[in-house]
Amino acid sequence: MSLEFHQFPCLSDNYGVLVHDAASNTTISVDAPDAGAVRDALAEKGWTLTHILVTHHHADHTQGIDELKTVTGCTVIGPDNSEIVGVDRKVADGDVLQLAGDTVSVIATPGHTLDMLNFHFVNAGVLFAADTLFALGCGRVFEGTPEMMWQSLSKLAKLPGETVVYCGHEYTQANAKFSLTIDGGNKALQDRAAQIDEMRARGEPTVPTTIALELETNPFLRASDPQIRKNLGMEAASDSEVFAEIRERKNNA
Ligand code: ZN
Ligand code: FE
Repeated sequence: MSLEFHQFPCLSDNYGVLVHDAASNTTISVDAPDAGAVRDALAEKGWTLTHILVTHHHADHTQGIDELKTVTGCTVIGPDNSEIVGVDRKVADGDVLQLAGDTVSVIATPGHTLDMLNFHFVNAGVLFAADTLFALGCGRVFEGTPEMMWQSLSKLAKLPGETVVYCGHEYTQANAKFSLTIDGGNKALQDRAAQIDEMRARGEPTVPTTIALELETNPFLRASDPQIRKNLGMEAASDSEVFAEIRERKNNA
């Protein structure tokens, strides 16, 4: 069993990803940010779409569903949210799907939205974190609370370090600049920020990332770090309070 992952930029800063399993002739689009871009990617690879996995209701993740479903007859799997039109199979936290020759576990990560689902391809060791966890960042807390978002990120942080993480957006360079204002003495973060500048200058994606790299450098996962707490003057606060402060600072950055 070997899955192929094809990531492509679309809209202004979104990523689309196709997951392909030749053995079962399965091709999954994770979200449907832009039907045209997904169709172009399918044509380029010579793959036929069989499924869409939907993470959350925001338009930049769902607006292509209708056209893709009409054109391909694919099966749409996603959250139980009537705002998302066209979902054939509703899934929730803890559900396990057998898909593309892999075991896909559904992880609810509410915070950015209340319906947010992430998909973990267990055997491949790949996580689709959508707008919950970004490279050096996390999603804005639109519908949940900071405490809820912290609990959601904490679930993802417990996945194996080598887990490859695909994110919904290319926000990494701005995130790096902000991260240095919170954790500027972190050598691993300094090195990564420099690398990111080089990658972006060459026009390369900085996604996917890994859980291990994020644990080492992403301040939104590092609320328990003594140096970050010291930097913020929050030595006695809870982890979720430290997280909330970092999130608030990023909102105002
Ligand atoms: Zn979103
Ligand atoms: Fe988004």
